[in-house]
Amino acid sequence: MNEMNNNFDCDVIVIGSGPAGLTASMYLVRAGFSVINISGDEPGGNLSKIRLIENYPGVVSCSGDELFKTMYKQCSDIGVKFYDFFNAEKCEKKNNIFYTYLDNDEILKSRAVIFAVGGKHRVLGLNNETEYFGNGISFCATCDGPLYENKDVVIIGGGNTAMDFAISLSNICKSVRIIHRRDSFRASADMIKMAEKCNNVSFLKGYNVKELKYIEEGDYFELHVENKNENKELGNIIVCTEGIFYALGFENNSIPYSYDNNSDGYFSCGDMNTNNYMQVVTAAADGCKKAIDCQSYLKRC
Ligand code: NAP
Repeated sequence: MNEMNNNFDCDVIVIGSGPAGLTASMYLVRAGFSVINISGDEPGGNLSKIRLIENYPGVVSCSGDELFKTMYKQCSDIGVKFYDFFNAEKCEKKNNIFYTYLDNDEILKSRAVIFAVGGKHRVLGLNNETEYFGNGISFCATCDGPLYENKDVVIIGGGNTAMDFAISLSNICKSVRIIHRRDSFRASADMIKMAEKCNNVSFLKGYNVKELKYIEEGDYFELHVENKNENKELGNIIVCTEGIFYALGFENNSIPYSYDNNSDGYFSCGDMNTNNYMQVVTAAADGCKKAIDCQSYLKRC
């Protein structure tokens, strides 16, 4: 077990309790370092909002919340100390001591800090959309595609993710329609070509989604879309769909802390570092890697 200087509250502060932050916490404690995890307003982050996970190796099927609770227990059983529902507002390093300022005015001192603050998917901002997140509106074709087997679905967005979703959903769903706000796609030519080759994928370009209505009797959605084109031939239309996939891009959560990225002893992991993978397994793997890097740093300094 690492001998800790009495000046420190722990060896490492981990900020964030999604799969990256929890994996990093677990690896560090198992290696003999003491860890405080600042779990934030929503412990589990995006993980606990996932309806069904069937692609995390070794776990056949469970909800994101179940997986989060298992990881959390695994961590607390081995000694990770959780500060649930507290947020870190600022971090700074002075004389090799890392100061983390919490929103309850407490200041924690550590020898290193790992940020695992995640990110969030862009949304349309429609009036009632949030009530359907994870329940009709999905952000991940890999995760939720199988729930829409033989159904008619819509993808909103025009980047590579939209094409990627279309290609994979075309194998599962009855029909896939991409609705994009502009006349040209942002996606790469090869991805567009691959999506165009799928017989059951169609495209609606130059349309903005203005309204979403859930029709309970038929268990489907009506999307009211507005034609943005000069040529208003088609006018505004209603698209009926059983499932909606948002492919609007991703915003990494910024770190609202004054920290010097190049300063030794700061690490970051998980979704906050990527726009591409966004999988529980990749976030966990990144948390593991940064915990190992952090161990090397702690042994060196
Ligand atoms: P993205 O490239 O940022 O595309 C987001 C799309 O959503 C854009 O077409 C954008 O429209 C649209 N959009 C954003 N806000 C909107 C709004 N409020 N209303 C309507 N439409 C809106 O994001 P992404 O497709 O997730 O890709 C992210 C990164 O991952 C990219 O670098 C991409 O190349 C990469 N990626 C690569 C692959 C691959 O190579 N296999 C697969 C997936 C992702 P506008 O075009 O009008 O801005």
